[in-house]
Amino acid sequence: SAKANGRNCVRLFDPTDPLTGDDNEHIAALLRVAITNNLVSLVYQPILNVKTGQLEAAEALMRLKLLDGTPVSPVAFIPIAERTGSILDLGLWSIRQACTDILVPFAAPMVSVNVSPIQLKSKGFAAKVSAILAETGVDGHRLAFEITEGINMDHQSVILRCIKDLEAQGIKIWLDDFGTGFAGLSWLRLFNFDTVKIDRSFLQDCETDRGRSLLRDIISLLRHRGHKILMEGIETEEQLKLMQQLKIDYVQGYHLGRPTPLAAFRSRLAA
Ligand code: C2E
Ligand code: MG
Ligand code: MG
Ligand code: MG
Repeated sequence: SAKANGRNCVRLFDPTDPLTGDDNEHIAALLRVAITNNLVSLVYQPILNVKTGQLEAAEALMRLKLLDGTPVSPVAFIPIAERTGSILDLGLWSIRQACTDILVPFAAPMVSVNVSPIQLKSKGFAAKVSAILAETGVDGHRLAFEITEGINMDHQSVILRCIKDLEAQGIKIWLDDFGTGFAGLSWLRLFNFDTVKIDRSFLQDCETDRGRSLLRDIISLLRHRGHKILMEGIETEEQLKLMQQLKIDYVQGYHLGRPTPLAAFRSRLAA
């Protein structure tokens, strides 16, 4: 239900249902004018250090609303933005917005922004990011880019070049949704990700001994390779305790904080 998805992710569409052609076109058209009409915004979700309990970073998540104010889930609109090319402008907008937001008092020390593979293989992306850093005066070290392990290996060399150029600007590169696709291990071979975010589906598996031992093995593999490990989707105190036992570095999830607009995020931190 809409309620179960949280107040920031009321779903206009059930993302498991295929969208009809009409819905698709409506969203595609909306995405083209979304920035100029203030239909997109960012919400921030805290990422905590398990050992110290300190706020380490905030993940910026994009939100879109229809002209009548109805929110649309990114699970529905991001793939449309990727297909139609709108993701290029939206993606740069979100980086610029996150850079502006991080400079206000009580923001997180770091911000992570989701970056689509379409952006990583687009011409001049790293240079455009460099221009945003210069324009906003943000130190690249305060920025992380989350890239999903689902990226198509076809464009491997272009993407690799791009993430190395971004890394040279101090930006951390994180691997998102680890364990959901087939390419995750190949990417670990190709690039030394600062942090790997383990997909929350592994938490559900933790209820069984087999699931827990699989998670332990994944953690030891990532640790041996020198990655920091973030577990996403922590919803209960019990799951948090398990992460402490497993010596996970960072945690994120509804139990620790829901994605919220900047103002609410700051006042919570200030309190
Ligand atoms: P993601 O990057 O893996 O982000 C985590 C998603 O899990 C977010 O959903 C977040 O709200 C949700 N989440 C966080 N904690 C919990 C929890 O405890 N339980 C559950 N069930 N869910 C939790 P959201 O915001 O709907 O975003 C969905 C996906 O859309 C993101 O997955 C990301 O792949 C994509 N996305 C969102 N914003 C952007 C963006 O600015 N750019 C790009 N390229 N993709 C984005
Ligand atoms: Mg992410
Ligand atoms: Mg994720
Ligand atoms: Mg995920």
